[in-house]
Amino acid sequence: MQVIVRRFLDPEIRLRERLFQLLSAIALAEYVIVTAYNLILGGSAVQIVIMVLGTVLFAGTVAFTFRSGRMRAGSAISGLLYFLIYPLTFFSSGGMYGGAPAVFAFALVYVFLVTEKWERAASLALCVIGSGVCYLIAELHPGMLTRHTVAAEHTESFLSILLVTLLLCLLFTFVTEVYRAENRIVQRQKKEIEELNQAQKRFFSSMSHEIRTPVNAIIGLNEMTLREDIPDEARENARNIEVACRILLHTINEILDMSRLETGGMEILKSDYRTTSMLSEIVNMIWLRAQEKGLDFVVRVDPALPAVLHGDEIRIKQILLNVITNAVKYTREGSVTLSVSGKTDGSGCFRVAYDVADTGIGIREENIPHLFSAFQRVDEQSNHAIEGTGLGLSIVKQLLDMMEGSVSVQSEYGKGSTFHIEIPQEIVDDSPVGEIDLRKTEAAASPAHRSVFTAPELKILAVDDTPMNLMVVKKLLRDTKAVVDTAESGAEALEKTAETRYDLILMDHQMPEMDGIACLHRIREQKGGLSRDSRVVCLTANVGADMERLCREAGFDGYLEKPIRGKTLEDEIARLLPGVGG
Ligand code: ADP
Repeated sequence: MQVIVRRFLDPEIRLRERLFQLLSAIALAEYVIVTAYNLILGGSAVQIVIMVLGTVLFAGTVAFTFRSGRMRAGSAISGLLYFLIYPLTFFSSGGMYGGAPAVFAFALVYVFLVTEKWERAASLALCVIGSGVCYLIAELHPGMLTRHTVAAEHTESFLSILLVTLLLCLLFTFVTEVYRAENRIVQRQKKEIEELNQAQKRFFSSMSHEIRTPVNAIIGLNEMTLREDIPDEARENARNIEVACRILLHTINEILDMSRLETGGMEILKSDYRTTSMLSEIVNMIWLRAQEKGLDFVVRVDPALPAVLHGDEIRIKQILLNVITNAVKYTREGSVTLSVSGKTDGSGCFRVAYDVADTGIGIREENIPHLFSAFQRVDEQSNHAIEGTGLGLSIVKQLLDMMEGSVSVQSEYGKGSTFHIEIPQEIVDDSPVGEIDLRKTEAAASPAHRSVFTAPELKILAVDDTPMNLMVVKKLLRDTKAVVDTAESGAEALEKTAETRYDLILMDHQMPEMDGIACLHRIREQKGGLSRDSRVVCLTANVGADMERLCREAGFDGYLEKPIRGKTLEDEIARLLPGVGG
């Protein structure tokens, strides 16, 4: 019995197949019980022959179905069998006065559940018509019914109703149990998927952390090489190392973002931002790359654009950087133009429109629908020399979907492409930005290194469990003449802050025993500590918008990501200590 029950609940077997097995077992049990009832209580010879015949034929059909696995055919034959047997039992066992009505009800439920598609409609129609015709004949020719004694008919009717109800109850108990078992499986699978998602997230973030740490050293030390007066060939090599690292980092970021999007770990975090500063950051980041390729980078901003908007500035920058970097990447000569405008839509939202047009290689019409699919690089033959993973535009599309924005492309193969992006934002300050010249910050992007400040009186503590990172920070700050002490753990940092007052502390986040956040709190509360009020900047290889928020909430005064560049580091110090060097 247990084996049978387990078989009915076995999730490896298709649900339909199990239902068919269960219903067939119940229907067969009914055939056997009715046959036994007729034998024991002395039914007529015709009745007994019909029931034995029915039982044998039905058992044969069920056996055929199980062996051949042809469920559809098996269930259709069962329905047909009922259509043939039912009139015989009806007339031989007192028609509507005996057990036939209850059997009719059960048969309809059986046929409905085991058949599907057109077989279901046909079988049900046959059964209903067949039964209806039986009732009609019985009414028009009552003599055709083999009547039993009133007592026997009542007993038969009563027992049939009891039997059918029992069988239906059994059926529904099983169906409910199957449903529960399926539900348990779905819940377990859901949990497994969630655990897998978490593991994947952990894997990608630790992979990113582990790659960033050596890349931080490569970029930092390479920057030191570039600051030296070195032969042209060595300078060219160092510049190529820098470009290679930039590509590597971009790839890691894309993989990390893709994993976050897939596991639902990406959030849209809105805040107020100044339109001009957001755009000038983008221009600064792209301008140098365009110039290196000999491309014109044109920026046109509608003077009527509101000065302050509310939205996820970081993600908008990410989207625009992705599309503009592509434009630069896939254009050999000519120009890349960024046009920004916008209008208020019906719902009171301001839809900012960004158009990125290039005079590049263009995209074939048939490839446009595949542009936004993950891992798809189109026109691979012509583009194989250009670096990329095929993830960028898929991330752009998913981020835009999260922000209820849109992206469309117009392109002429060989002539160029235009990406049109729209993002709804709330207006915070609608005063127009006016005529702005974003190019005026160009000089800031100049590669020649000059320290932002020199401050020999400045005391800085760098805390990191990787000695190489500490060396990089020390070297990058060398020209500022600041005194840079180092600590390789939270505990060592606390020893130093107990004795020395530091103007600024650069704190790694992920450290064994005491992480950066715990160390920050200990410094702030340190009894007799001399650096309780120092400015503390989180300098981390665990990157991402979530990380930045976590650091700000934990009380850090600043947030920097590894790999770090000398200028970024100096800018952040100058921002937090305005009087420095002056
Ligand atoms: P990739 O990392 O390969 O650049 P993307 O998802 O950013 O991946 O872009 C997908 C593909 O779309 C690219 O491989 C390229 O073939 C095509 N593409 C994207 N932008 C442009 C453009 N401005 N001009 C021509 N082709 C482009």
